[in-house]
Order: sequence, then C-alpha cells, then structure tokens
Amino acid sequence: MITAETVSSIRTFDGGGLPVVSLYARVDPGPDGQREVRTRVSSLLDGIRPLAKGGIAEREWRMSLRGDIDRIKSAVGQERWLPAAIAIFACSGRNLYTEIPLPENVPDRVIVDATPYARPMLAVLAQHPRSCVAVVDRASGRFCELYQDEMSELGQVKDPESRKPPIVAGRPDDRVSNKIDELAKRHYRRVAERLGELMQTGDFDLLIIGGHGYEIPDFVQQLPRPVHDRVAGTFSTEPGLVPLTEIRESAGAIAARYEQERDQQLVSGVLEKVAMGGLATVGLDGCLWAGTVGAIQTLLVRGGAAAPGVVCDQSRWLARSGEVCPLCGNPTRPTPDVIDELAQVVISEGGAIHHINSGGAGLVDHDIGADLRFRLPEPPAAGSDYGR
Ligand SMILES: [Zn+2]
Repeated sequence: MITAETVSSIRTFDGGGLPVVSLYARVDPGPDGQREVRTRVSSLLDGIRPLAKGGIAEREWRMSLRGDIDRIKSAVGQERWLPAAIAIFACSGRNLYTEIPLPENVPDRVIVDATPYARPMLAVLAQHPRSCVAVVDRASGRFCELYQDEMSELGQVKDPESRKPPIVAGRPDDRVSNKIDELAKRHYRRVAERLGELMQTGDFDLLIIGGHGYEIPDFVQQLPRPVHDRVAGTFSTEPGLVPLTEIRESAGAIAARYEQERDQQLVSGVLEKVAMGGLATVGLDGCLWAGTVGAIQTLLVRGGAAAPGVVCDQSRWLARSGEVCPLCGNPTRPTPDVIDELAQVVISEGGAIHHINSGGAGLVDHDIGADLRFRLPEPPAAGSDYGR
C-alpha cells in the first residue's frame, strides 16, 4: 500500500550529493505486459548507463548509480509489477529503494538528479483522497490510514485511568465523577493533539471519526479549528472491540461520499466556468487542444471514457483525426485511445486527473472537461494545409 509516510519521505528525500534515480514505466496487464515492461525498463536503464561509467563524476557518485541500475534491473526480472504503472526511486549510496505502484498510466521516463522526480507520482495520487481515521472513546484513541480501500494502523493513545468507574457504594459521588470527566477531557486533548500532528505531517485530505454515538460530539467539539475543518464524517461504533475490517467499511462509506461530493463540485465548477466564458472547456476537441498547448490544470474524465484519435510524437499535437500534424507537418500516429494519451500529457505537465465515476455528477453531454491554466490560443483550422 502507498502510505502517506512513503510519499512524504520521497518528497523530502535528498541524495546529499549522490544521484537519485527516478524511473516511471507503464505496466500493461497480463504476461505480455510484463515482458514488454522489462524491455522498456532495460532500454531506459541503457540510457543512463553511460553516466555510471568513468568521466567527470566522482567515483562514489558513479558507484551509487551503478548500484541503482543493477537493483532496478534485477527487480524488473522478477515480473511482479501490477498495472497500470510503476514508479521507482533509488539512491543505493543512501539506502533508498522504493517501488510505488500507480493506479494510472504515466509516460515512461528515467531521471537522474539530486532529488527524486516526484511530480508525476503526486499527480496520479492526488485523485484519490487519503483519510485519517480515528476511533475514540473516553480512554483510548486508535489511528488508522485509509487509502483506496486499504487500511493501516498509525498508532494509539491510551489513558486507562479516565475509564475507571467511581469506587463508591450507594449514591454517586459528584467529586469522583467530576474527576473522571476531567481525566476524559485531558484524554480527548491528547488525542486531538496527536491528530493535529498526524494531519500536519501526513498527506491526509480528510479526517473520519468513529466512537460511541453519545461521546463523538463532545470530542469533535474539542478539536482545534484546522483539524475540525477536515472532519468529513463520523460513525458510530464500539471502540476497543471493533475489528479493522469494520472500521474500514464504515470509514470507506464516508470517504466514498466525500469523493462523490467532490466530483460533483469539480464538474459544476467546470460547467459554470464554461457558461461564464471563464478558464475551462468541455468536450473532446477543446480538451485535446488544451492538452496540446499544456493548458490543463485539472482534467475531468468520465469513468471508462475512451476515444480513438491521433498523436504527433514530434509536437505532441492531439486530435480525433488527421494524417498530418498541422503544427509541424510530420505524419501522426493513430491511437485507440487519445484520452489516455491526453491524460499522460496532463500528468507530465504536473496537472491532475479526476475520474468522475458517480452517476449523478454528469458532464452533461460530454465525457471530458478541464480547468485551464490560461486562455487557449486559436486551434489550427481543420484540414489546415501545413507547408503549402
Ligand atoms: Zn507535430
């Protein structure tokens, strides 16, 4: 699972003078996909191999790079990468080797630099919200991370003394129960503090809280404002007894609803901008042209949408049809899915892609829409006669 910790450790890693290899490769499903990715990764590695040979670079630098090339080479031989893509970050001289499976296609690429090249990975991961889940009662707090249906534990806070019942026979002792309330409050503060830290250091988009129905409101009220604002929902459960799978189910439903609402907002945001003549476009032609000129900030694609088209590998011109690129005059390459090519362009430009899966959030009559960085120039006229 891709944890917030892994992502943030890559984001902040520095080779300290040694080279960091960042490699991205598409992984198609099936045995053909595995064979094919091996060939493509080998040729990416061949491209950087000369850097590891003698020359200007220092020996330590070259040795580290050589170690990375060997390690990646042996990893690709094991044929175990999952579709749709893999990102690898390596710096053997500093003990870094991380493989991150990506749920989206990214362009094949290898980069040797002083720090990891994380932008395509971050662009792919941005579309799935990452949730911090806290299950809380008067004496305990349990923290988990939920990302794409997977849960992992992040730790606990325990204050058992605030659970003890008052040790009095007969009528309840007010002083004792006040004391217990005081301890519970202190415990809530500790849990809130820990949550504040987690939300600050992890890449969490939302916070989901579970516990006894009669205790949650008190706890949520105590949360500091910035943490409170991230609460996407709460669920009722029996802390201490509840298995992880059950937490996942309850929290997953809240995260899914959040994603759906966010989709709806993204879609209406784009449609409103288009209606007002703002920086947005809908429809395949507009989006392909926006991708060609690198104008897409956020691309919205209806889940499962695909369309045949053409690409110019020289100038990156994308269109539904055309044998010759109107920008540079080179022959185009036909592709079974030009939306996939567009998505790769958007990712490599640091834009984000959101798949709109919820039925209600329609892009009206379109499969695709985009938020733009700048106003689009006039597209080349259809059937433009380049070079004549
Ligand atoms: Zn071209």
